[in-house]
Amino acid sequence: MNKLGIGIAIGGGGTLLLACAFAVPIAVAAGSVMGGGDLKPGVVPAACGNPATVEQAASNTPKLPGYTQAQVKIAAAIVRAGQDKNIPPRGWVIAVATAMQESGLRNLASDSKRWTTVARISQSMPHDGLGRDHDSVGPFQQRADEGEAATRGQKAWGPTRDLMTPSIAAGKFYTALTGVDGWQTLPLTRAAQRVQKSAYPSAYAKWENQAADLVNRLSGGAANTANTAATVGACAQAEQVTASGWVRPVSAPIGDGFHTRGGQHQGVDLIAKRGTPVKAAAAGTVIHMECDRTERGYDCSHDGSPGAWPGGCGWYVDIRHAGNIISRYCHMLRRPLVDVGDKVAAGQQIGVVGSTGHSSGPHLHFEIHKGSRDASSATDPVQFMAARGAPLGTSAKGGETA
Ligand SMILES: [Zn+2]
Repeated sequence: MNKLGIGIAIGGGGTLLLACAFAVPIAVAAGSVMGGGDLKPGVVPAACGNPATVEQAASNTPKLPGYTQAQVKIAAAIVRAGQDKNIPPRGWVIAVATAMQESGLRNLASDSKRWTTVARISQSMPHDGLGRDHDSVGPFQQRADEGEAATRGQKAWGPTRDLMTPSIAAGKFYTALTGVDGWQTLPLTRAAQRVQKSAYPSAYAKWENQAADLVNRLSGGAANTANTAATVGACAQAEQVTASGWVRPVSAPIGDGFHTRGGQHQGVDLIAKRGTPVKAAAAGTVIHMECDRTERGYDCSHDGSPGAWPGGCGWYVDIRHAGNIISRYCHMLRRPLVDVGDKVAAGQQIGVVGSTGHSSGPHLHFEIHKGSRDASSATDPVQFMAARGAPLGTSAKGGETA
């Protein structure tokens, strides 16, 4: 079974364990971490795109675990077409995610009994399988001119022959995408939906992380550029959303890391000043917001403490992102700016840094979970964000000086 055949498990209502204990000691916050160089050992800042790598991947299909050679070939053709048309890397991610949703990255012929011309032409060309019974073909499942459009004397996306040629099909996708106002900063779902006009618009978003990862592997890290970038090579600055759709929640030195304190620390502490804006790390939906009341009598109206009382995350927010990734933001100063059900954009402010709950001083405790809100699903946010071109800390890239 290849990677695209695996369904996305939606986490149920598991038990929430807030192991968001204490902040780093004040001495650390004020001292050693201010010197920069705060990326943990082993986290190598990613490269941010190399045209030669795209060239090579397009002409000599690399083997990539989790994907068939045919799938990699389609993805490489899409990325190459984007490069040839000077489409910014954000477009490559959107295009690959769309083809994942529409065809599982396969060049699909039509087996329509009604649109026989489309079926005949598409099946006469190299293809990776048969699609559904209508006049859509190719990796993007674009409707062919010889289908229903012909009966009305109209044109659709193009001739079947073109739509079954992945590089041409991708070119048509890019032409439509770049006609969408603000496409580089729109959530992937909305950008893809404007192009595809699918009946299931929310389906595109779930592929965003896999698409960004695949684009990175084929392009030497082009998804690590800013989503507003026009070319590859320059990594996203600290405040910029990457082409893969992620941004640092705050730019601040790293204090205690993941699974410190005997494995009890489920996130990373980012030592920012009280009142620093906290940003959503990616587009998503707010699924939780509260003053974490693990102790009676504490209402988050004032700073907590690192002692035995109070416990918990203080004012905090959980956001669900594409692919059922959940991010958590703890110890905010006051009631957050967003509530359950709100849709947020990457980089949108959701609150400010504070020290409510079990905390010894102002900082953002930041967690990433895969699949559910449980402690058992927590993953290392430092590694996770570095892989998305938005490394935590202040000095990894972006030219800040702490
Ligand atoms: Zn913490």
